[in-house]
Amino acid sequence: MAEKKIDILTFSLAEIKEFLVKKGEKAFRAKQIHEWLWKMPVNSFEGMTNISKDLRTLLNDNFIIQSVKVDDMQISKDKTVKVAFRLYDGALIEGVLIPSENRATACISSQVGCNLGCEFCATGKLGLLRNLSHGEIYHQVAELIKLAGEKYNLSLTNIVLMGMGEPLLNYDNVLKAMNMVSSEEGLRMSPQRITLSTVGLPRMIKKLADDKVKFNLAVSLHSANDKKRTEFIPANKRNSLDELKESLIYFNEKTGQRITFEYLLMDGINDSVKDAAEFAEYCKSFPVKINIIEYNSTGDSRFKRSSNEKFNAFVIFMKSKNLVVNVRRSRGMDIDAACGQLAGKKRE
Ligand code: SAH
Ligand code: SF4
Repeated sequence: MAEKKIDILTFSLAEIKEFLVKKGEKAFRAKQIHEWLWKMPVNSFEGMTNISKDLRTLLNDNFIIQSVKVDDMQISKDKTVKVAFRLYDGALIEGVLIPSENRATACISSQVGCNLGCEFCATGKLGLLRNLSHGEIYHQVAELIKLAGEKYNLSLTNIVLMGMGEPLLNYDNVLKAMNMVSSEEGLRMSPQRITLSTVGLPRMIKKLADDKVKFNLAVSLHSANDKKRTEFIPANKRNSLDELKESLIYFNEKTGQRITFEYLLMDGINDSVKDAAEFAEYCKSFPVKINIIEYNSTGDSRFKRSSNEKFNAFVIFMKSKNLVVNVRRSRGMDIDAACGQLAGKKRE
């Protein structure tokens, strides 16, 4: 049986060099190949135009480039673009480009599906197929950079790990990919422009703190009441709000960074003044920034968007407690590209 080809994206520059030398090729070619893989990524060895045909054939015989290919694209009225990426094994994931006047944000996936099963989330209904490799995570960013330039003449300014999956359950690959995004060898984007969003896994948050990460941490809180939170976020059962708080205090102490809380307002579920009061109380232990988010329909009739009245009252209450509050209105809803709607559905 033919040997399985190796994903060249798992090779460091030094390893590519070693491979070339072993095959009698010039070592300096390694840098060129590495640049084609990361700095100005191509999807095939064919695309490495300054490399000889023989060397490209040698690479092709030994490696694959396990990156992501744009399979389908939908554009919203508000210019948000949802991209379906096809992976080497046929699986589909989604990424979203959110342009605005002077910035462009890439929302990328960390897993194919998610096994945490939050009741309000379309991705949660899929279950987990597999983790993404660090190359697959990184290359979504690279593709969305190309798209932002070609379509809107914009540079990518921000990255949010808010697509499909729970990034802290694919810890090593997510960190590797984000390190590469920030590195000289990669896209040289400042980690301050990257936000990792998590359902809130205390053990992994402490690990982020120990690893002294420089990107922003957002926690999808959605309720500061254990009983209530467990009803729609099953993962809360194993990770209580007290444990979460303790890990966030630790994170703040170790990294000096403030915490972002995401709070999704769902009609009659977590949008009362009492809910707001519990939330404000929870915010007291560390510096926070709060994003209040509109609920996006996923076809589950148990969950509905809060009325404007309730939404505004919630925001006003939080602001009255002197908290930094942003309101996040949905983008790309007409094409199911908004938060929580990513489910890898193919267009008919
Ligand atoms: N697993 C991570 C990141 C992916 S989900 C997390 O849970 O944070 C990205 C964000 O979308 C989270 O804040 C999540 O709570 C939110 N979300 C999920 N379903 C949603 C929906 N139907 N409407 C709006 N936001 C939703
Ligand atoms: Fe997974 Fe996040 Fe969706 Fe929950 S909200 S199911 S953790 S992707």
